[in-house]
Amino acid sequence: MTDTAGRILIVEDETKIAKVLLDYLAQSGYETHHLTRGDEVEAWLAEHPVDLVLLDLMLPGKSGLDVCRELRSGQAGRPAPAIIMVTARVEEIDRLLGLELGADDYICKPFSPREVVARVKAVLRRGTHAPADTPGGLQLDEAAWRATFDGHDLGLTVVEFQLLKVLSARPGRIFSREQLMDAMYRDERVVSDRTVDSHIKKLRRKIEDAAPGREPIHSVYGLGYKFELPPQPLTE
Ligand code: CA
Repeated sequence: MTDTAGRILIVEDETKIAKVLLDYLAQSGYETHHLTRGDEVEAWLAEHPVDLVLLDLMLPGKSGLDVCRELRSGQAGRPAPAIIMVTARVEEIDRLLGLELGADDYICKPFSPREVVARVKAVLRRGTHAPADTPGGLQLDEAAWRATFDGHDLGLTVVEFQLLKVLSARPGRIFSREQLMDAMYRDERVVSDRTVDSHIKKLRRKIEDAAPGREPIHSVYGLGYKFELPPQPLTE
């Protein structure tokens, strides 16, 4: 994880409004990006996962309504970002709620930027959305020490969760047993290499039970371990 409070995509065609939001969110520690068109969102998100999308309703290219639907129907294995819909009319919100789009919150223009930041914080704090930077079908809920893989709860111990978190944060990077031990035991308890191996073994078995054949944890002979997922199988 980076030390940003979260990554936010603002989709807004009125650049003045977008600029104010960008400034306020940046001041609050968020990493932000801005798009002006609805039809650019999906392709951009495929390359740049975010934690939350502030989505204007009326957009050129594709409406916020359609964008929201598409994000909620989701791509396999990719944690969906939280969505806050922004509309220019209060009465529109009732209609949007009725459509059950699955947005996490609704904000009406004109708004105070401070209110938007407060809503963003509240939605992210609810923590129903896993951090967006986990690879493949892995989701880590750090608040609950809970890991799911392809939607299955792995039932990890705290140590196994730590191991998986460290490995998966840097896909492809090889970690030595020593580095993994450091990550697991901040209190410098002495553990043997075999302990790391046995935790990894249990972790692998749990992942194999939840998602047979995926095997994301690889041992690298003489060096240690790395986390790497094969490309997702194409779905219809
Ligand atoms: Ca607009």
